[in-house]
Amino acid sequence: MTGAAIHSPRAGRSARILDRLGRGWRALELATRPVHPDLEAALARRWDALPEHVKSPSQALGRRTSGCEGTHGVFPRCNLACTPCYHSRDANRVRTDGEHTVTEVDRQMAYLRRQRGPAQNAQLIGGEVSLLEPDAHAAALQAMRNHGRKPMSMSHGDFDYEYLERLAVGAGGAARLPHLSFAGHFDSLMFGRRGIKRVAAEGDLNPHRRRFCAMFQRLEREHGVSHYLAHNMTVTPRNVGEVAGVIRDCRDMGFRMFSFQPAAFIGNENRWKDEFRELSGDEVWAEMERGAGARLPYKSLQIGDERCNRTAYGALVGDRWVPLLDDREPADHEARDEFFATFGGMDFDVRPTLLAARLARSLARRPRSIGVLARWTARFAHRAGVLALLRDRPKALTFVMHSFMDARDVRPAWELLQRGEMSDEPRIRATQERLQACSYAMAHPDSDELVPACAQHSVLDPLDPRRPRSWPERCDP
Ligand code: SF4
Repeated sequence: MTGAAIHSPRAGRSARILDRLGRGWRALELATRPVHPDLEAALARRWDALPEHVKSPSQALGRRTSGCEGTHGVFPRCNLACTPCYHSRDANRVRTDGEHTVTEVDRQMAYLRRQRGPAQNAQLIGGEVSLLEPDAHAAALQAMRNHGRKPMSMSHGDFDYEYLERLAVGAGGAARLPHLSFAGHFDSLMFGRRGIKRVAAEGDLNPHRRRFCAMFQRLEREHGVSHYLAHNMTVTPRNVGEVAGVIRDCRDMGFRMFSFQPAAFIGNENRWKDEFRELSGDEVWAEMERGAGARLPYKSLQIGDERCNRTAYGALVGDRWVPLLDDREPADHEARDEFFATFGGMDFDVRPTLLAARLARSLARRPRSIGVLARWTARFAHRAGVLALLRDRPKALTFVMHSFMDARDVRPAWELLQRGEMSDEPRIRATQERLQACSYAMAHPDSDELVPACAQHSVLDPLDPRRPRSWPERCDP
């Protein structure tokens, strides 16, 4: 063959078609791969770095997820007052600046994408998110999505439908965000909410909780923007007896998660009002079970350290809460192990055709999981009751308890960890173990670090020289 033949127009066209086909095939292969290779590598690194005491069969970090993420220093201001407040005393002296927020969120999320792979949950947090202009809020969420994050906006929920609509719907009238995920923080330890400046009892907030959910339901009806809502509540000795009532009153409002945070001595010292440590995690969990009307089994799936996190996954079937996994049932643990082995960090929250392809590839690689998962489905149906499942559409409902640590323990623990040392003092050592297994990290691209939220609030936020360098200039307090 002559050189002229090799470089003929027809040969060139064929080569380009073959090249395009090859690239298309590789893109398809990557998209339908159950777990993106970057996430697979990030999970392996996460597992290797975990301390031995949390490497149990139930551990989801490093198997299913890299962990939860949060922004920091991007919109520190808040217009309510909480006791306790985890922001530093300076937070309210910083003006909210949408351009700064979006730039900084983008930088932090790009770092998280590099370190932890795609399809991870990230919270837009660090102040009151609804103080951002809707356009800046939408742009921040879009920046998070662009870096493969699944964003959740953390808010006190004291905003109007008009704000929500302007957030979700662009200037042209079309929805610019297909889905919104929000956590609404409601508890009687907050002051300054419109219409109820001071709250005597948790139940007084129920109209505000209902209004919050109703706004998202209206948005979905009017603009087709779907939503996921979580309910956050700080728990102190003062309101622990009302936890059960909150769950009972609010579980049909539209929340898909109830997350409780036993108060810690962290953040603004002026807002430490009670002896928070009179309350144990077991007491809070018992109250949650009273409200759920069911035992909340949390031993089957662990995210990080059990002293930090407890999670019970389940579904509301009629008025009964039914766990996905029963931690007294060995066969459920076999199903969990099989799930981890078959799907790993696979993202199920994708369009149906892509999901079908990923499921097919996963199950083809490990066909025995079909039987194991089918038997788990039958057990769940038995627990829930087949008739009840047919009659009442089950709704996913997750219960979480996240126990932050006290700043006085975190500071020395973190400083020692920075020097690569473990403490001999049991309380500080326990704090270090929890920090090493942290499931909730914040990105510091400048120093090339992932920092546990406890260390962020206890060590980095309050110290002037290390205060987030990116905060804009102070505004008037
Ligand atoms: S170390 Fe702190 S931020 Fe991390 S999971 Fe534990 S309590 Fe949460």
